[in-house]
Amino acid sequence: MKMTTKILIWMVAGLALGSVINVFASDVAFVQDYFVNGLFHVLGAIFISLLKMLVVPLVTFSLICGVCGIGDIKKLGRVGLKSFLLFMFTTASAITLAVFVAMIVAPGKDFDLATTEQIAFEAPEAPPLTQVFIDLIPSNPVAAYADGNMLQIIFFTILFAVCILMIGERGRPIIDSAERLNEVMMRVVTVVMSIAPYGVFALMAKTFSLQGLGLILPMISYFGVVVLVLLLHLTGTLMLLLKFAGRVSPLMFLKKMRGVQIFAFSTSSSNATIPVTLRAVEKRLGVDNSTASFVVPFGATINMDGTAVMQGVATVFIANVYGIELGLPGYLTVIGMAVLASIGTAGVPGVGLIMLAMVFNQVGLPVEGIALIMGVDRLLDMMRTAVNVTGDATVTTIVARSEDSISMGTFNDPDAGAIEDVHLPSKEMRV
Ligand code: ASP
Repeated sequence: MKMTTKILIWMVAGLALGSVINVFASDVAFVQDYFVNGLFHVLGAIFISLLKMLVVPLVTFSLICGVCGIGDIKKLGRVGLKSFLLFMFTTASAITLAVFVAMIVAPGKDFDLATTEQIAFEAPEAPPLTQVFIDLIPSNPVAAYADGNMLQIIFFTILFAVCILMIGERGRPIIDSAERLNEVMMRVVTVVMSIAPYGVFALMAKTFSLQGLGLILPMISYFGVVVLVLLLHLTGTLMLLLKFAGRVSPLMFLKKMRGVQIFAFSTSSSNATIPVTLRAVEKRLGVDNSTASFVVPFGATINMDGTAVMQGVATVFIANVYGIELGLPGYLTVIGMAVLASIGTAGVPGVGLIMLAMVFNQVGLPVEGIALIMGVDRLLDMMRTAVNVTGDATVTTIVARSEDSISMGTFNDPDAGAIEDVHLPSKEMRV
């Protein structure tokens, strides 16, 4: 059985078991202690840590290979600029579509604030935009690596790799070692992915035992519009871009991205999904390491289409609930702010709400209103993260196509890069 199918089956099983526990066993201490907060919690947390463990070394080695593989600083700048502009474009179109659809459907128009239970929402302090730019440069690269600060790691690694090229022949052994280390890390990804079905199962079972689907009902108008726009963006905007700007088959792309989307859905983190995205983009879609190694981690940090969709719908929803008229200038500010906020915030679970608080502060919407949507945010976070990573891979594919750094043979081969069984080489082949 194919790995993706296996993961999908375990994911649905986890979802079903979690929902059953939520309905029938939410106050059975034994189930809660030994399964929800015991087995599922431990397995799920171990799985997320395993994925996160891969991110920093994989991005570092892969980026060194990528930059040295491009070997041309001008091309590097071009790939960077193209991907940055496309990331901004997809995020801006996602939120514009969201605001547009939400204004037509008008969720929250007859929402009765008095009937809802209020939970407090503490808005975290947003860093000023100037700081976001200053923070691109790590004052201490070791700290950047230790914290997993992706933009700082990208900055330092690119500079480092460019300088390897600058020292000429003497840099060759470093490039060779980075290539080998990258190969090893890719293999570690495959090994970790072989236990993915159980990790995904545990994450799903835990989340759905705690998050009953019943939470959605009072918020159905908001929830429904977010899901609708996520689907429109995923199957509309992104696929049109792939078809016309990337000149590749959107169906083949979606087929090969399914595994990545499941990982993003179950971990709610674009960052933790980087290893899986990187592997899929290179091995399944055929994008050259020189493009993928840079655009994928860059996208995981600065590109958040799904999150932008949530922000667009949430803005209209809260404005409706509180009867506030934002007007065109207000909505344009929301769009601009959401795009800027996505640059400075990493793709980790729940960060979307923090970004929303920044946006609300800017346009003067009540930040406490965010408390209303917090209950359903966990589930929406999963869905929007799946859209976020699809956006990252879409842009990577389009940029690669424009740079002629994608193997169309691999892209069009349905089985390319499918995960094989993990086994140790035979005795004779071992070193
Ligand atoms: N969890 C999302 C991501 O990692 C960010 C968010 O919308 O909260 O991409």
